[in-house]
Amino acid sequence: METNYYELDVLNEEHQNFRNELATINKDGTRKWVYAQESSGRFTRARSIVAYTLLAFLVITPFIRLHGNPLMLLNVIERKFIILGVVFWPQDFYLVVLILLTFILSIGVFTSILGRIWCGWACPQTIFLEFVFRKVEFLIEGNARQQIALDKAPMSATKFARKALKHSIFLVLAWMICNLFLSYIIGTDELFAIITSPPSQHISGLTAMVVFSGLFYGVFARFREQACVVACPYGRFMSALVDPDTIAVTYDFKRGEPRHKPTKADKTGTNTEPRGDCIDCGQCVVVCPTAIDIRNGIQLECVNCTACIDACDTVMTKIKKPTGLIRYASANAIKHDYAANGAPKLFNTRVQGYIGVLLVLLTVVTVLFLRRPEVEAIVMRQPGTLFQKVGEDKIANFYTLQFINKTFTPKTAEIRILEPEGATLTPLGEYGNVPQQNVQHGRFLVTIPKAALHGAYNTVRFGVFVDGKLIKENQTTFLAPEH
Ligand code: SF4
Ligand code: SF4
Repeated sequence: METNYYELDVLNEEHQNFRNELATINKDGTRKWVYAQESSGRFTRARSIVAYTLLAFLVITPFIRLHGNPLMLLNVIERKFIILGVVFWPQDFYLVVLILLTFILSIGVFTSILGRIWCGWACPQTIFLEFVFRKVEFLIEGNARQQIALDKAPMSATKFARKALKHSIFLVLAWMICNLFLSYIIGTDELFAIITSPPSQHISGLTAMVVFSGLFYGVFARFREQACVVACPYGRFMSALVDPDTIAVTYDFKRGEPRHKPTKADKTGTNTEPRGDCIDCGQCVVVCPTAIDIRNGIQLECVNCTACIDACDTVMTKIKKPTGLIRYASANAIKHDYAANGAPKLFNTRVQGYIGVLLVLLTVVTVLFLRRPEVEAIVMRQPGTLFQKVGEDKIANFYTLQFINKTFTPKTAEIRILEPEGATLTPLGEYGNVPQQNVQHGRFLVTIPKAALHGAYNTVRFGVFVDGKLIKENQTTFLAPEH
């Protein structure tokens, strides 16, 4: 039978166990703590650059202002969203949902083509854990071996001091992350107002912050890789999105197997057994933050962090073999040896389908966004009112009006009646000059001659004019007595 990537018959029974148990759970169900060794190499360097750039972007963004507004604001409480400086009002909620859908689908497309590249390179969970919290841990408790020794050692003043220092810094970091995310929800101005005013004025806000800081601390200090392995829904979706053409961190089993630990016979050159390039040193496993063995093939737990690529490349360099025994490649690329035989078309039919849907969604979002009116007008018959008789031959209805100026300049807005003929509109109070990024409320009266009415329910058609230009037409009901 041909060696199959998904049914690695090169693996013995012991290795096949990975299908039945989680690498981070002991047989008795208790947690197996992962002491991941610090990785180094070209991928770790590249990921560090990406991670710290994204971190800087995440921290700076709430402070960047465009026309006096933050660059990003995701105020779910007041349903006010600002994405890249563009303000989305509650009336634009459908657009926000469509943008989020497009974003999720684009991650799906990326996953189909490049596996969990999001997890390894851009996910905040990975970035905070690997490039902030674990760095602090390495600094205070030393490398993986030293951490194991420290945890096994009985409590002493040094151990207590190290643990206390680490967890104090973790708590501060968790508090900062909580504040950072909050600044995306309520904005920096409101956040600073809360920070600088007495806590008694913000008891509920403070309670929420303590709870969420505790949650972040729990995730990064204790829960860690379990978030990716058991909690993250995206990790579960991945199995439905990837296929043998997906490019992911992959072990070249054709080149690596049969794996072997170097023997005397190897050193003396008298070995006659078949040998793969894998020397079974386990370095790819000890650096893995989810404690899996990539040699078992693509697994849900793999967050594509590339640490095993760097670890194996270092080993291959030391034993003078070509690097890339573990590399970014698809299962088919290894199985059919694309490097030697040439790869088939870049995207398979499924991925082409995903890209097609993504393009349609992007087009819809773009068209809807461009057609979004600069000034929204909501006209409603005043609740609780029926109709008024005006003299012997006219009927009047009251209406409420809401102008929403979504632009960054003041606008002059006006409602004019387009139908029925003979109807007149009388503004009740001052309205029409709408400041930028503002909502203005107003009331008006519509009077229609009885001759133009047809029973109890009639229709009035309005035109919304902004700076003298008709931008939208609306219609609403006009009540009148039965004839
Ligand atoms: S690091 Fe490379 S050589 Fe060592 S066990 Fe992993 S795959 Fe084999
Ligand atoms: S198998 Fe490799 S790429 Fe996957 S999580 Fe472990 S170290 Fe990272």
